[in-house]
Amino acid sequence: MKPVVVAIDGPAGAGKSTVSRRLAQRLGFQYVDTGAMYRVIGVLAAERHIDPNDAEALERLCRETRISFRDDPEGRTHIYADGRDLSDAIRTPEAAQWASKVSAVPQVRAHLVAQQRALGDKGGVVMEGRDIGTVVFPDAMAKFFLDASPRERARRRAAELHREVSEAEIEQVAREIAERDTRDRNRAHAPLKPADDAVYVDTTDKSIDEVVQLLYDIVTARRAELATL
Ligand code: C5P
Repeated sequence: MKPVVVAIDGPAGAGKSTVSRRLAQRLGFQYVDTGAMYRVIGVLAAERHIDPNDAEALERLCRETRISFRDDPEGRTHIYADGRDLSDAIRTPEAAQWASKVSAVPQVRAHLVAQQRALGDKGGVVMEGRDIGTVVFPDAMAKFFLDASPRERARRRAAELHREVSEAEIEQVAREIAERDTRDRNRAHAPLKPADDAVYVDTTDKSIDEVVQLLYDIVTARRAELATL
């Protein structure tokens, strides 16, 4: 039996994290946020003043770092590097840029992809990232590519700051995610792009509930179809 994996890819602010977490809850699946893993390596590299182009030093860092996930009693998933909780440290705009830089290094990708496959091999997983349907699990049972207009994606990311945000701040966030998306889309290894067999979902004018329902219906229909084979 092939492990049951739902792959969710897309650019920053497309709604992947919230949708993936809720979809996993409804399906009774485990949720894996692969972006958090790249962010951990980015934060550790910055702390140690490792140049994001120094592939050798980054590979050593990946080899020496044990990344793990654990849920707290409120259901929030924490990420640890050698037992140190980095869940908050990875959520800054700087960490996002560092993640995007170190993720372009093939040695970093090779290490993290191997860990992601190990997490998914047990099956019953909703995995979110940029290359899940194209590289990590090309045989995933269902693949989705979530997208939204650049303005809406910037608005959502700015709203995550949990306070009033000015128009200038939205513009600033829009510039940051545009820079990151350009890097993610144009890198030589595992660039951000929809898998040929991914369902493309534009979430710009859709609520989270609508998107989760749409994905849930497609996954359950596919499971029913596979059960009859
Ligand atoms: O999803 P998130 O915004 O947390 O991802 C941070 C960065 O990590 C992305 O901009 C991308 O460069 C990188 N990433 C990746 N492959 C993945 C997940 C994230 O390259 N599967």
